[in-house]
Amino acid sequence: MSHIFPRHTLIQPPRIAGGDGVYLIDADGKRYLDGSGGAAVSCLGHSDRKVLDAIKAQLDRIAFAHTGFFTSDPAEELADRLIALAPEGLERVYLVSGGSEAVEAALKLARQYFIETGQPQRRHVIARQQSYHGNTLGALATGGNRWRRAPFAPLLMETHHVSPCYAYRGQQPGETADAYGLRLAREFESKLEELGPDTVMAFVAEPVVGATLGAVPAVPGYFKAIREVCDRHGVLLILDEVMCGMGRTGTLFACEQDGVRPDICAIAKGLGAGYQPIGAMLCSGTIYEAIAAGSGFFQHGHTYMGHPTACAAALAVLGRLTDDGIAADVAPRGDRLRAALEDRFGQHPHVGDIRGRGLFLGLELVADRENRTPFDPARKVNARVKRAAFEAGLVCYPMGGTIDGQRGDHVLLAPPFILDEDQTGELVDKLGVAI
Ligand code: PMP
Repeated sequence: MSHIFPRHTLIQPPRIAGGDGVYLIDADGKRYLDGSGGAAVSCLGHSDRKVLDAIKAQLDRIAFAHTGFFTSDPAEELADRLIALAPEGLERVYLVSGGSEAVEAALKLARQYFIETGQPQRRHVIARQQSYHGNTLGALATGGNRWRRAPFAPLLMETHHVSPCYAYRGQQPGETADAYGLRLAREFESKLEELGPDTVMAFVAEPVVGATLGAVPAVPGYFKAIREVCDRHGVLLILDEVMCGMGRTGTLFACEQDGVRPDICAIAKGLGAGYQPIGAMLCSGTIYEAIAAGSGFFQHGHTYMGHPTACAAALAVLGRLTDDGIAADVAPRGDRLRAALEDRFGQHPHVGDIRGRGLFLGLELVADRENRTPFDPARKVNARVKRAAFEAGLVCYPMGGTIDGQRGDHVLLAPPFILDEDQTGELVDKLGVAI
């Protein structure tokens, strides 16, 4: 009997024993192709020598020192590197240990910024339906996933949700992508007006929606229109790149492809590539300067923020992604995987949509392709695909199941960036068996 409090009390997963490139190996020696990198975490596979050596070297120096007393070379170098690579305007880094912490820090920073700049009435957050931003209370309240929110309602933080940019289900017949993006930006502005624009502090969104919708990018122009609404009303734009950031979509920051500049950006998963838990919140110079000139103290903090070993791992990951050219390879490798998926599933009666960017791809599973009808949730299609894939030796990330007719079941693919041609074929074959 296991004494671990598991994710699901009725499911006992196999024990992991090892990893080899893109493969995971369980205690019985069974090999699984890692088609989802956990949840878009393991971007370098499971045995990256350079990252492992960097961690070991740091452990030999010092594993941990509290940031209340010390900073460290790896933390300083990581922050310098991130800012050099980040979209213009992001000038400071707050290091944390994961995605929810990064989002939570972003929300608290936005709130403190407005309190210190004489706008304490700005407390509302507008996010999007069907979104996931983490499981801590603030991040959970920000997410628009009804199923996750329901057991904890009423949530501690009041948030408001508008439609996601989800062309497959949201764009009307005959409506252009431009018109669709503008319609959604207008919906956001109407929500702002309804709440009173000067009571809203931030709009929060993932550039490419991962877990809840299955790699759904926004239509071109959507984020520019959202940014304009934010600017018109003095609202901060917080982008959650916890899942889609760090090269996953073909650019280091996903928002680069939307031509939009956030005020605050949360990153995590791919930053540590699974070798260490780490996350970061990046913010604009304007926000930082306001707090520096005000209280001088961001009222936040965690014991493990800026953990030297985690930072050494992340620094090595960034080196692999940028200096060693691995991130630059994501777009062509993603094109290859996408072409193979289209070849295999393009006409499949139960695959309604194949979408995404780079190596962040999703398939939407439907009962009826013509009418885009989702499966009856009672059929638990995503859970069955997950199980069948697992049996076939593929780890993928099926999610969904419509709760309100607004989304279907989907499979999210986020393999390590080192996925080669043969492994691409193996992934698609095994997924085909499962579907
Ligand atoms: N934001 C997004 C977009 C995520 O996908 C996740 C994790 N799936 C989180 C936040 C929370 O990250 P963590 O699980 O590391 O707390």
